[in-house]
Amino acid sequence: MKVKLRNPTREVEVPGPTSVRILLERLQINPETVLVIREADLLTREERLADSDEVEIRPVISGGAGRGPAGVAAKCKRCRAPAKVEVARANAAFCADCFLRYVRNQMTKAIDDHEMFTKEDRLLVCVSGGKDSLALWDMLLDMGYDATGYHIVLWTGEEYANESRAMCEKYAAGRGATLIVTDLKDDEGFTIEQIAREGRRVPCSVCGLTKRYLSNLQATREGYDVLVTGHNLDDEAATLLGNTLHWQTEYIARQSPALPSTHAKLSKKVKPLYRVSERETAAYAILRGIDYIVEECPLVAGNTALRYKDALNLMEARSPGTKQQFFFGYLDKVAPLFASEDKVELRACTECGQSTTGDVCAYCRAKKQLRAKAGRKGAS
Ligand code: SF4
Ligand code: ZN
Repeated sequence: MKVKLRNPTREVEVPGPTSVRILLERLQINPETVLVIREADLLTREERLADSDEVEIRPVISGGAGRGPAGVAAKCKRCRAPAKVEVARANAAFCADCFLRYVRNQMTKAIDDHEMFTKEDRLLVCVSGGKDSLALWDMLLDMGYDATGYHIVLWTGEEYANESRAMCEKYAAGRGATLIVTDLKDDEGFTIEQIAREGRRVPCSVCGLTKRYLSNLQATREGYDVLVTGHNLDDEAATLLGNTLHWQTEYIARQSPALPSTHAKLSKKVKPLYRVSERETAAYAILRGIDYIVEECPLVAGNTALRYKDALNLMEARSPGTKQQFFFGYLDKVAPLFASEDKVELRACTECGQSTTGDVCAYCRAKKQLRAKAGRKGAS
């Protein structure tokens, strides 16, 4: 049987017939970190594979797939039809329709519990071209929300930038949805790749700062009510683990699925997918036929959150539900205790007018540093 593995893409021959579960065991792949696809169809672990089959094993967790045990059911928990997707943390498996419904229900619960937005609000949805943000935009549009897409071409790599943008444009065109694009190179005069090359700053930290700044600027300048991002349960649990290991109490206090606007130049920010795992958003995108960029950002190796994701995935494989217990437990029991830590006073940046805690915001400072460096280069 021909098996296509991704990131990096390669093909291996594995003798069949066998089952998905045994195939993954032989390849030492943690089933919680991948989806197995045969002719655009998702397969559960108990599915039989013939020697003539061609299957793709697609990593759906940033950082790829590791080893772990396999398991469980093959019938939809809700309607008893043959299952397509296992959700080990809910001790369940679902057919395609019931799975889509399950994911939408998780998002609806998040929106309601945290009073994120209503049908009257104008939403600006940050879309990267990846599975999470496109699945999010798709659900919001399906549910009748007024959702405009916003994509930043970050230029972390030439091919990656072009393909990410193309995925967003393709989706927007297919849905007749509005997509706004900011090109970092043309509009801001620098690229994240350049920062990585020069090596003076950590590219992921400048990248994160840039995304936060530009999306907030777009939302407040154009009068959107809420800024919506595709952070999922894995992202949130990894961030919390990182902040907890370093006891960054200010960051812990600010980690919330919904942050209100506390300044005229600071948009309300929400994360409606915080109840949905990364594997589930990927399965949602595949079942909905959404084309997304499967490759990872070329600079992903510098992303420290991946270490925490790896650690959580190891625990999740042994004990399904770990990530959700950790993050939901924080929201229920710990976040209220940290509320008093979050007491920053915001004022307007003297350079750009956006909100900041000091005189000049971090983005303006980073840009100034880049310009100074470019100036020194030009002079030498
Ligand atoms: Fe930006 Fe780092 Fe994510 Fe790449 S991996 S998009 S550089 S934050
Ligand atoms: Zn500024």
